[in-house]
Amino acid sequence: MLYPLKFKPIFKEKIWGGDVLKRRYNMKLPSSKIGESWNIASHKNGMSVVSNGPLKGESLEDIIKKYGRKLLGKTDDGKTIDEFPLLIKLLDARDVLSVQVHPDDVYAKEYESGELGKTEMWYIIDADPGSFIVYGVEPNITRDGFRKAIEAGDVESCLRRLDIEPGDVIYMPAGMVHAIGAGILLCEIQQNSDTTYRVYDWDRIGDDGMPRELHIDKALDVIDFEGLYTRDKLNGLTIYEGDSSKTYYIATNHFAVEKLRIQGTLADSTDCHNFHALTAIEGSGCIVYEKGHVEFSGGDSILIPAVLGNYKIEGNTTLIKAYMPNINEDIISPLLKKGFCRHELLKITGIKEETLENIN
Ligand code: ZN
Repeated sequence: MLYPLKFKPIFKEKIWGGDVLKRRYNMKLPSSKIGESWNIASHKNGMSVVSNGPLKGESLEDIIKKYGRKLLGKTDDGKTIDEFPLLIKLLDARDVLSVQVHPDDVYAKEYESGELGKTEMWYIIDADPGSFIVYGVEPNITRDGFRKAIEAGDVESCLRRLDIEPGDVIYMPAGMVHAIGAGILLCEIQQNSDTTYRVYDWDRIGDDGMPRELHIDKALDVIDFEGLYTRDKLNGLTIYEGDSSKTYYIATNHFAVEKLRIQGTLADSTDCHNFHALTAIEGSGCIVYEKGHVEFSGGDSILIPAVLGNYKIEGNTTLIKAYMPNINEDIISPLLKKGFCRHELLKITGIKEETLENIN
């Protein structure tokens, strides 16, 4: 029988990492240079293992094989989702990360032996005053100009910086060159991929005394210089249910993301179509479902199986919820029924005029 699953975090030591995950969430870190906690992952570079209930000790991969669509649900065209499509991380940047870019699905399939591309989304949990991220290139920077700047050692002048505060939400589609600045703790929702092209590493030396490898040619292939993605921080669309609220930020074919702020209780449901991946970024609480309950605290991620059905989240807590949406059934129709008008739905990244035109 499936139930809300919790997992042992997979820690990744990084030259830019720290110990904030221990200080903030009391996670048991194996070193003081932990950059990433992979909270839910089914990838060759990291495989989650269940930490609660009867399935404790089993890998996510094995549970997916055993339970199939009962766990992950199905795509819009009815196919069982047979691989966990996301990678859910907490990331502690005490030093700036390399400037990097990820390929899209088409490029990754061709050049990275069938890997997925990587579109990602960041929820900024905490940020020191004055923190920034790199978010795309400055306007008017061309591919050729960028290559010349790399050769001249002048990449920094091409990069667009964005000041960051706690609570900010950033969408990072494949092709957007980016870097996380120092002093930032964030929750990352991304496609299940680990393909990164490093463009520039701030002239930093790695642990072995050598600069880390760069991937300039592939990066130049995939960076969007057309300015297709000039989006800013996302505000999303918030609905209130009693003292709790739900903010819809992203609804794309890669994933949907909501922030749940719970004071008391919030009801939700998986309908066999969908799993929910919840990550507690503040407070603590309890998932209550028909056959039992699972407690959680800040830093935990919980995978709600598609088959679970109705459940409630109780507590005083903020969670980031990620899932593979049927955009019409899960997002557009319910919000229209609640009385939102069409142009308000455009505040959700991924919903476009064309999407709404086809809806009655
Ligand atoms: Zn990235």
